[in-house]
Amino acid sequence: MTALNTENIQRIQQLCSAHNATLIAVSKTKPIPLLQAAYDLGLRDFGENKVQELQNKEPQLPADVRWHMIGHLQRNKVKYIAPFVYMIHSVDSLRLLEEINKRAKQQDRVIKVLLQIHIAAEETKFGLDADELHALLTSDTYQKMQHISISGLMGMATFTDDTDQIKREFGYLKQLFDHTKATYFAADSAFQVLSMGMSGDYELALAAGSTMVRIGSLLFGSRAMH
Ligand SMILES: *Cc1c(COP(=O)(O)O)cnc(C)c1O
Repeated sequence: MTALNTENIQRIQQLCSAHNATLIAVSKTKPIPLLQAAYDLGLRDFGENKVQELQNKEPQLPADVRWHMIGHLQRNKVKYIAPFVYMIHSVDSLRLLEEINKRAKQQDRVIKVLLQIHIAAEETKFGLDADELHALLTSDTYQKMQHISISGLMGMATFTDDTDQIKREFGYLKQLFDHTKATYFAADSAFQVLSMGMSGDYELALAAGSTMVRIGSLLFGSRAMH
């Protein structure tokens, strides 16, 4: 088990609070005692990318943890996290949104979601483009939903050393966020989250206007590849 990097946690938390941003501790693959240690240092937002791991960890940490689902989510698994998930960052289709709405209704909840936007050059990353975002937000299906709250956008930049490229991608997402807020959410104060930035690029993300950074390795040490 790797150790918690308390120095990094304090430094990143300070930077986040200077930017009015929330630090999400990405705890995927990490054991419960490490999450508990992060909790004891004051962290309350934890991010996981697998439904089963989220389900397994949730009852083992204090009830005031806010659990963020940050990984690709299959529709048939939404029901397992609907009772407790705080925010789903990875919504990339209307059909997934419909399923979340349905399961949230069964739980008598309103679940906060972010729409994931494809900003990276890599083909493999999930997400909507600007046209698909527009189509989703103007659809009748979405407008009838009462058990989801679209709280903002999420994106992942290309994995590259080219900081200009990362800045362009984050800059584009920030612009799309501002435009979407002004166009579709002018009367809805819930739309305020821009989730971008990971261990390798969170400083660029905060400078570009991120309000939520999702950081794993810098807090918990690097993950074994598996
Ligand atoms: C793993 C993961 C992160 C955190 O990655 P680090 O490089 O360890 O900070 C952030 N966002 C998503 C969607 C992830 O899957």
